[in-house]
Amino acid sequence: MDDETALIISALSGLPPPQLYALIQSIFSAAFHHHRRLSAILSSPTLFLLTLRHLHSLSLPGKTLLIARHLLSSLRLLTSHLDPVTHSSSHLLIRHRDLDAALLLLLLCDLRHHEPQALDTRRPSDWRLVLQRQCSDDALSISGIGVYNGGTLIPYVETVARCWRFISSSAAGAGGKSGREAPASVAVVVALPSVGGAGGDCAICREEMRPGRDVCELPCQHRFHWLCALPWLRKRNTCPCCRFELPTDDVMAEIRRLWTILARAATGVPHQSPDSTWPHQSPDSTWPHQGSFAVVNDGVYGAMEGCDNDTCG
Ligand SMILES: [Zn+2]
Ligand SMILES: [Zn+2]
Repeated sequence: MDDETALIISALSGLPPPQLYALIQSIFSAAFHHHRRLSAILSSPTLFLLTLRHLHSLSLPGKTLLIARHLLSSLRLLTSHLDPVTHSSSHLLIRHRDLDAALLLLLLCDLRHHEPQALDTRRPSDWRLVLQRQCSDDALSISGIGVYNGGTLIPYVETVARCWRFISSSAAGAGGKSGREAPASVAVVVALPSVGGAGGDCAICREEMRPGRDVCELPCQHRFHWLCALPWLRKRNTCPCCRFELPTDDVMAEIRRLWTILARAATGVPHQSPDSTWPHQSPDSTWPHQGSFAVVNDGVYGAMEGCDNDTCG
């Protein structure tokens, strides 16, 4: 476990008992849901092949985005308990079919990580049996998608941290495109409150904010003319004064924002100013790696060719 992950676990463990209890309950509930989905996939040949086919239809960046969406939902769970005023755009929630594909992909990556040859030369029906065996061996705790016995928080945060390292190193590999500024979430912007201008100048246009309803207030309590704030927030999700970050509708930017909240809570630093270290590469980004996605994809391709039309056609 790296230092940052240990600090996050320590910060979460130090939550007041009612908050910690609620967090553990949420993690149990998410883990139970994931375990139920995986059980359904692994016990149904048809659902298994359909999920494999969905995975196969995705490009490498598409698979990375799948992991990103799964990571985002895990981060939302953690930060919502750590910082209850942190909201995140609800339309970034992972869809049912994508969740199934993400869980299966992580399980396949797990398997390849621990038994690189386990799926070679096997037909998809055998893949299912191999994966079922892996589940029953409780190896799922490695990917954090199984049912936990006892330690709930640690495997969950470790999985989040591993996925974060994977996503951030992928972003770095893609030229750091995901570190770009993202517009603030439209739903969050339209929900900003209008307030009466109480004197003072708008930091964007430098003109006075007169009494009236043409002034909006950001969650950091900085105020601006609506007419100045709207074009600003269409381009970036940060407050012009203190760089407080508003939620965005961009998956990668939202992951970075929530991870920053988590990491800063762990180090006791307020999260008003955004972290400039994204995307960063970590030498520990060995799982899941895109190499295993490609191998999984080759295997999936072979599997889809080998399956009968009734189930995957
Ligand atoms: Zn203004
Ligand atoms: Zn501000």
